[in-house]
Amino acid sequence: MPVELVLQNFIDGQFVGTESHIDSYNPSTGEVYAKVPDSGEADVNAAVQAAKAAFPGWSETPAAERSRILNRIADLIETHLEEFAQAESRDQGKPVSLARTVDIPRAVYNFRFFATTILHKTESATYLETMQATNYTVRTPLGVAGLISPWNLPLYLLTWKIAPAIACGNTVVCKPSEMTSVTAWMMCRLLNDAGLPQGVVNVVFGYGPKAGEAIVKHPDVPLVSFTGSTLIGQRITEKSAPHCKKLSLELGGKNPCIIFADADMEKCIPTVVRSSFANQGEVCLCSSRIFVQRSVYQQFLQKFVNATSKIQVGNPADPMTTMGALISKEHLNKVKGYVNLAYEEGATILCGEGKDELKLSDSLKNGYYMLPTVITDVRDSSRCMQEEIFGPVTCVVPFDTEDEVISRANNVKYGLSASLWTQDVSRTMRMCRKLEAGTIWTNCWMVRDLNMPFGGMKASGVGREGFKDSVEFFTEEKTVCIKH
Ligand code: NAD
Repeated sequence: MPVELVLQNFIDGQFVGTESHIDSYNPSTGEVYAKVPDSGEADVNAAVQAAKAAFPGWSETPAAERSRILNRIADLIETHLEEFAQAESRDQGKPVSLARTVDIPRAVYNFRFFATTILHKTESATYLETMQATNYTVRTPLGVAGLISPWNLPLYLLTWKIAPAIACGNTVVCKPSEMTSVTAWMMCRLLNDAGLPQGVVNVVFGYGPKAGEAIVKHPDVPLVSFTGSTLIGQRITEKSAPHCKKLSLELGGKNPCIIFADADMEKCIPTVVRSSFANQGEVCLCSSRIFVQRSVYQQFLQKFVNATSKIQVGNPADPMTTMGALISKEHLNKVKGYVNLAYEEGATILCGEGKDELKLSDSLKNGYYMLPTVITDVRDSSRCMQEEIFGPVTCVVPFDTEDEVISRANNVKYGLSASLWTQDVSRTMRMCRKLEAGTIWTNCWMVRDLNMPFGGMKASGVGREGFKDSVEFFTEEKTVCIKH
């Protein structure tokens, strides 16, 4: 089958070719369908130079005009929503229904949200009577921001960085994941039509250690916003340290879901199925350790496995599909490896990989599919309970008391999110103070208000994103003192 797409970098408002390319696979068929630029230091240097040249003009552009342009970008993506949704599904393997209802609408909303944020000012002044001095603060953009994003929610997470960065008056050099570059490239095709000045948004495609690291190490990039694995977050911290860069790191998770006996099971089961397996379990916020109070443990397991078995695994383009293909063959093997490990350790596989048969049509047989898998009888110390699997695998274990479950839930290196199912408000409030997680959902999952801070504790990250937090990250606050 011929390669259908050859992507180019977007630098200074122009598409620019590269000498070499990276094969990009369609996860649903295992076929190469696009070629992604294999950018290096020279491409990154050109992008940073363009961003640097555009910064004085863009940072001086009135907020109302920047806001208008961001809204136009949102409108243009929305006009092409269906094309973007189809492309995201084909590039990433997620069901097209998910891309259509979550990924692309959220990318549109990211631009709209920060387009209005910058119209509101919160600064105030103080008068120091003893010194007859007025103090006030002013926030200014920093310059060229480096934005590096992962493959699981490609356009959603990249625009969550681009929108606040440029809304605040910075210019950017972005590097999406080499495995899911297509929708970022499609977005670049709209930026000139939206009236965005050349050089404000530059996108270089390619491998992390090559193109990504060139951004991180570039002396003219004073801040880097990164979403990805903890391992790479650590590497970015090391590489940027000599320059004292401002860093925002949104990293991995191993999120607990805690279900008490008083939980509303009818509401709990479908949400916990979603929180375990949405986007093939490839969401940093997915629940991968489910703790269930012993008196309802068997009842939960039976209903949970029953509901999980109804997930329709198949062609992401099929509207009936509720779980698509994993991102790559290597990742599929890694995720399956965890299930084998659990089995070897004596765990019980209740449904999915190694237990049930996955039936696929011939056209999909080379795709990266697996069944959603539920594991039990697994120790807290098992690698399946400690490491981020990032696939459709979840472990379910019983607990007895509140104190016990808090300590077990916190007993991992990560601290991204947690979810809690109980009707007891006092218990909720006690537990939320003790659970080590940047976001705690009670009786729900993935309900996001972009006004709220989002980020992780411990190995799950440094910093927060959200209305106030992103504006703080993408600006520098200065205190000005005027003696009268
Ligand atoms: P990854 O860390 O392998 O890659 C993320 C990005 O970094 C990619 O664009 C990659 O090319 C680039 N990169 C790789 N090496 C680099 C280097 N040396 N220097 C600079 N850039 C480099 O992560 P992934 O596999 O793409 O994504 C999955 C991970 O992302 C999971 O751990 C998941 O939990 C995490 N994630 C976190 C959040 C969050 O908000 N906390 C959201 C989504 C995904």
